[in-house]
Amino acid sequence: MDLARTPATPDGNPKMADVPPIAPATPPLIRREDYRPFAWAIPQVALEFDLGLDSTTVRARLDVTRNPAAEPSPVLRLNGDGLQPAEVLVDGEAVSSWVMEGADLLLTLPGEAHQVAITTCIDPSANSQLMGLYASGGMLCTQCEAEGFRRITFFPDRPDVLSTYRVRMSGDRDLFPVLLSNGNLTASGRGPDALHWAEWHDPWPKPSYLFALVAGDLVVNRDSFTTMSGREVQLGIFVRAGDEGRTAHAMESLKRAMKWDEEVFGREYDLDTFNIVAVSDFNMGAMENKGLNVFNTKYVLADPDTATDGDFDAVEGVIAHEYFHNWSGNRVTCRDWFQLSLKEGFTVLRDQLFSQDMGSAAVKRIEDVRVLRSVQFPEDSGPLAHSIRPDSFREISNFYTATVYNKGAEVIRMMRTLAGPEKFRAGCDLYFERHDGEAATCEDFIRAMEDGTGLDLALFRRWYSQAGTPQVEVRLEQDGGQAVLSLKQTVPPTPGQELKQPMPIPLRVALHDRATGRLGAESLIVLEGAQGSFVFPDAGPDTVLSINRGFSAPVIIRREVAPQDLVFLAAHDDDPFARYEAMQDLVVSHLLGVVRGDPSAPEGRAAIGEVLRTVVADTGIDDLMRGELMILPGESYLADQLAQADPSAIHAAREGLKGWLARELEGELVALHQRACAAGEGFDAAPRGARKVKTQALVFLAAGNPALGAEMAAAQYDAATTMTDRQGALMVLAGLNSPERTGRLLDFYNRHKGNALVIDKWFALQAQSLHPNAIEHVKALARHPDFTLRNPNRARSLYMAFAGNPSAFHAPGGEGYRMIADTILALDPLNPQTAARFAPPLGRWRRFEPGRAALMRAELERVAAAPRLSRDTYEQVSRSLG
Ligand SMILES: [Zn+2]
Repeated sequence: MDLARTPATPDGNPKMADVPPIAPATPPLIRREDYRPFAWAIPQVALEFDLGLDSTTVRARLDVTRNPAAEPSPVLRLNGDGLQPAEVLVDGEAVSSWVMEGADLLLTLPGEAHQVAITTCIDPSANSQLMGLYASGGMLCTQCEAEGFRRITFFPDRPDVLSTYRVRMSGDRDLFPVLLSNGNLTASGRGPDALHWAEWHDPWPKPSYLFALVAGDLVVNRDSFTTMSGREVQLGIFVRAGDEGRTAHAMESLKRAMKWDEEVFGREYDLDTFNIVAVSDFNMGAMENKGLNVFNTKYVLADPDTATDGDFDAVEGVIAHEYFHNWSGNRVTCRDWFQLSLKEGFTVLRDQLFSQDMGSAAVKRIEDVRVLRSVQFPEDSGPLAHSIRPDSFREISNFYTATVYNKGAEVIRMMRTLAGPEKFRAGCDLYFERHDGEAATCEDFIRAMEDGTGLDLALFRRWYSQAGTPQVEVRLEQDGGQAVLSLKQTVPPTPGQELKQPMPIPLRVALHDRATGRLGAESLIVLEGAQGSFVFPDAGPDTVLSINRGFSAPVIIRREVAPQDLVFLAAHDDDPFARYEAMQDLVVSHLLGVVRGDPSAPEGRAAIGEVLRTVVADTGIDDLMRGELMILPGESYLADQLAQADPSAIHAAREGLKGWLARELEGELVALHQRACAAGEGFDAAPRGARKVKTQALVFLAAGNPALGAEMAAAQYDAATTMTDRQGALMVLAGLNSPERTGRLLDFYNRHKGNALVIDKWFALQAQSLHPNAIEHVKALARHPDFTLRNPNRARSLYMAFAGNPSAFHAPGGEGYRMIADTILALDPLNPQTAARFAPPLGRWRRFEPGRAALMRAELERVAAAPRLSRDTYEQVSRSLG
């Protein structure tokens, strides 16, 4: 039986066994400055598991010695969460001298070195939080980052306690034919009755959050990789029977990632085996456990009939990300969770650079910036703003954020821009060499960068401690035959950080000449202080500034630019990102003008029409880039540009522009669609680009001429041989009140029934749609037999998609807000980590007009007043209200 499909009890309340312990009124605040080394070292851990879905016995044997680097203490504090010890032995003798303090077990140890053995018993099938050891569809698996190991056994569950692990597991041969853990398999055999067993040994010391165990009935796609020093590594991707045909892309991605990390970062893999297991019930995307990565199926399974081109890219990127952690995260880990960006920011940058090398670097950069702006910028300007190295938290799960990950990557990318790729590599080499086998800090990383590159990063460190997106005011003035560029930065106040200091901002710039069309050479300037000016000789009267090229700094550029300059940049700039940016700026300034009732708005619209016409016809760019340039800025990004946004006005303005552009360019868009439909099949850049512009053309046409859009979308759907075309067409149809809609939605469901990942898409398409009745559709889908809150992918496919649908989420009257608050309340007792992730959309209330703001706030207050709220949700909701 697949637990993910088990519907919740009719009232949405969980079984009693699932209720997490009552959170104290205010969970304690944990501060970075309070870090102290652990008093004890645990060089070796031996774990024995007697596996069962409803009852698993865990015998842990810890070799404990005093840590000479720490202040001595006779007390050994072992973290637990919902555990009771069945037996506690010290040096082989049963003892009763232990006490429980909250959920932790405290032992007083007299000497320098001891062996502590503790037996616990857990129920994996009652674990709906999906942290620790849990059952998923008849298999057992683990998720320990950040603090899940303490739900398996009592242990100092903190990343600075590193141990080697020996794991022996035994279980029913039929239920659990495959038994996996970290490291290398050292022995296996048959036990009495129907049992069998396996022993795994991981020789690399690791913190408990990297522990993993998987037991289940799985099939494997096997391959091998020969490392740069000639060692052969056995690779395995384990999935449910029937899914093995969809693992080839993941395997190819893994081998490409292993090779790339050797070539670009000089990092070689260090065990005889590397295994990946796909699990359908998973809170996050994937987990980098040493030698045994556990993945959400979403980031492993892909074939052209069930996955889009975007899904293929996501699989490649996530496989690479987790693999790269073997060095940036596992060999060098984090001292404490405040240093999370040490491994995540760095590894996100590594996976971004990998994806840039595998496909179109320009398009990848634009995609990454779009994610940063739509997810991280709002975080940085809202109540949950925090620096990439936070100073305090109540629940670490809430800090797995776009700030720590994506802004963290941007900060390291800036160091790379400042140093250049070769010196950056020298800094990375030094970091790995210095800290291999250690738990390090962000400060360690910065120091290695300074020593390896020769850069002085004294002021640059402020990027680690200050939250908020810097704003840079830009002015370009002509002075005789030269141009003077004046820059001024401000970092806005964020909760707990009223005053900010200026941060070094590297900006790649070029000056073009609009009259002659001559494109200037690029240079790098660095704004070190609050203000600075830079002189460019030989600049004529028609000089056009191209700034923050390649998005060299994660900042907001504020400047007055003449529309004809933006038109020039959008049509001609040689930096693809700058070209995209100019197009976005044109559209943003026009739409904000419409929202404000600016009478000159029609002229701006005409300029956008001309640029779009150039983009559609431009033979100098490929279709992948053309598709990027055709995407209009999203409604949430537009709302972000206003102090108090009216989402209805923004939606109306954006849809109005889309419709107008489509009517103006109908002939060109239809021709583009036809050309793209005639392009060949396959997975090279050309056919992929064709698929991208095909759906972009439909998006416009549906807004300008719904009957034509519906007819063309239905035809694209019917002719589709790939999920990319089928999903693109259905997305357009789902937003239209047309006769073609219902039949195609039904066809899609019947065609892909039973394929959980594709049915997730079916839910999400409808929840995200532009259809005027989207709220009613979501309510009906919540009652669909395939819907369950217990599976995080499914819960997100309906409600996170809905929260990302501005016109429906912000429906006047507050029905959308109520729905998300109800979701948080229903999900919190089952899976607090996932529930808490629904709070940020409501937490943005201050940024909306007073009527909406009051409704959003009221829903947050209703959630805050609920009894027995988890620590996760309590923290997100109280910070959002505060
Ligand atoms: Zn990661």
